[in-house]
Amino acid sequence: MIDLHTHSYFSDGTLSPSELVEKAERLSMKAIAITDHDTTAGLNEGVTAAQDKNVIFIPGIELSVTHKPGELHILGLGLKTWENSPVLDKINYNRKTRNLKIIELMNIQGLNITYGDLEKQTKGTIGRPHFASWMVSYGYVKSISEAFSNYLTWGKPFYQPRETISLEKAIDFIHSAGAYAIIAHPLNMPVNFTVLLEKLNYWLSIGIDGIEAIHSGTKRNMTKRLLKYSTEKGCLITGGSDFHGKNKPQIKLGKTKKFGPVLDDYLPKEFLT
Ligand code: AMP
Ligand code: ZN
Ligand code: FE
Ligand code: FE
Repeated sequence: MIDLHTHSYFSDGTLSPSELVEKAERLSMKAIAITDHDTTAGLNEGVTAAQDKNVIFIPGIELSVTHKPGELHILGLGLKTWENSPVLDKINYNRKTRNLKIIELMNIQGLNITYGDLEKQTKGTIGRPHFASWMVSYGYVKSISEAFSNYLTWGKPFYQPRETISLEKAIDFIHSAGAYAIIAHPLNMPVNFTVLLEKLNYWLSIGIDGIEAIHSGTKRNMTKRLLKYSTEKGCLITGGSDFHGKNKPQIKLGKTKKFGPVLDDYLPKEFLT
């Protein structure tokens, strides 16, 4: 079993990088990647934690890129370097600007959230999931998904757009760091499968290296179709759960939608050099 898509408390997960690596070892996993949103801040801790364990640690990141419709997420897997990056600094500057606007909207409506309330929840990237958790803990909503569907998604009262980078820039950033650019959870895209395949053809033509065909949000029949497509294309095929700890308790580390293991087959050998 492996897991090439997980979040630590450096973004919107609840475990530390060390706890993630320890959990992977307890579950006898072969490999784990940490792919926090827009940050590499947890990777040194992950590398150190894996040093004395029988688990391969794959340094990663998940970048949101500009796309319509929906959201497009790109995994960078197998990062070789992750020192200070102007690209990530800019992304996080834009995040902060957006987050301050959301706070303002909430304050106007009488929800007394502060930036400090958000900082308390993470050691790294602050995102909408942290607003959602705050709303749950102060009783404004019953669940994170209710916070999103009634307040935080597009068209709802606390939605604010966030300036993201282009797909081309994300690919460039990932390749410059010696890593592979993978389309995360392609089935999250709100388009039909034929349109998705056209998009995948295009993305592969401009430098995307692979597809996350195995993901806890993807149904088995769609996984099969993605596997068939990716095999025909000869691109990399990866698998991950998108584990977020207690923030998404229905997702289990190393597991697919039906809780079968993410198999070692979906760890490309390219990541092991
Ligand atoms: P942000 O990047 O700060 O705009 O927040 C986006 C993140 O919120 C995504 O990466 C998801 O992890 C999470 N998210 C988006 N929509 C939902 C939803 N409907 N329910 C739960 N989490 C969501
Ligand atoms: Zn997340
Ligand atoms: Fe994602
Ligand atoms: Fe993710």
